Amino acid sequence: MSASNTNSGAELLFLGTGTSMGVPTLGCKCAVCHSTDPHNNRMRSSIALRYHDAAHDVRRTVLIDTGQEFRMQAIRFGIDHLDAVLYTHGHADHVLGFDDLRPLTFGHAAHLPIYADDPTADLLERIFDYTFRKVDRYPTSARVDLHRLSSEPGTTVELFGAMIERIPVRHGHHIIAGYRFGDAAYLTDMSDLPEASYDRLRGLDIVVLDALRREPHPSHSHLDKSIAIAQRIGAKQTYFTHISHDLEHSATEAELPEGIHMAYDGLQLNFDIAAFPTEGDAA
Ligand SMILES: [Zn+2]
Ligand SMILES: [Zn+2]
Repeated sequence: MSASNTNSGAELLFLGTGTSMGVPTLGCKCAVCHSTDPHNNRMRSSIALRYHDAAHDVRRTVLIDTGQEFRMQAIRFGIDHLDAVLYTHGHADHVLGFDDLRPLTFGHAAHLPIYADDPTADLLERIFDYTFRKVDRYPTSARVDLHRLSSEPGTTVELFGAMIERIPVRHGHHIIAGYRFGDAAYLTDMSDLPEASYDRLRGLDIVVLDALRREPHPSHSHLDKSIAIAQRIGAKQTYFTHISHDLEHSATEAELPEGIHMAYDGLQLNFDIAAFPTEGDAA
C-alpha cells in the first residue's frame, strides 16, 4: 500500500562464510570441525542482497557468487527467485554452483543477467561451455546473459536502481572483484587491498572482509591483518568471512575489537543501498 519512493532499506544475507574446503573440512578431526555449534558449520562463501526496486515496486534479490553449495543454500534460505548474479572471481568455491541457477532461469521472459570481469567470464565460458556455445547449446542449460565488467578501477553497474561498484581486491597473485553497494561492501578472498581501493571504501556502515585463519596465507588475509585492514577502512561494523576451521566462532568473536565480528551462515544485516555517492554529488 505504502509504495516507497526510496530503495534504501536493503538486506545482506550470508549464504556461506566458509573457506574453499568448507567447515567441517572432510577428514578433519579437529574440535571446530566436530563442533555442535551451528556457527562453526560454514558452507562456501556467498551472499544475497535483497532490496526494493522503486521503479518497478518489487523486491530484488542479487547474488554474489555461486559456490558448490548454492543449491543447498537456496533451499535453506528460501531463495526461489533471482534477479542478477555478480561474480568475484573464478575459483571453484565461487563458481561451481553456476549450473544450479538453471531452474531459477526457466520460465522468465528475460535471461538472468550475470556479471563477471574478463578472467572470470572466460572461466565460466570454459567450465560451462555447453551453456554459452552458439552452436549446439545444451537445451536446458542456464538462460543467462553474461555481462563483462571492466577491471578498471571505478567500474560501476546499475542494478534495479542500486549502484554497484567493483572494488579491486588483491587475492594472491591476482586482482579480483570486491563489490560496494551503497553503505556496505563485500570483499571476500582478499590477501591485501590495493592502496587506491581504500579511497573507494570511505564512509561505510558495513564491510565484509576475508579472515581465513590465525597464520599468514599467500592468498588470504589472516586474523591480525584483517583486523588492521578493518581498522584502516573504518566502517562502523566489520564482519569476517571465508573462515577456515582454525577459527572457532565464539572464542574468536570474544577476542575481536569492538565493531568487528565473525559472520556466520544465515546472518542477516540491514544497510542503506541508496546512499552510494554518484559523480554528480557535491560532497
Ligand atoms: Zn574462495
Ligand atoms: Zn579464491
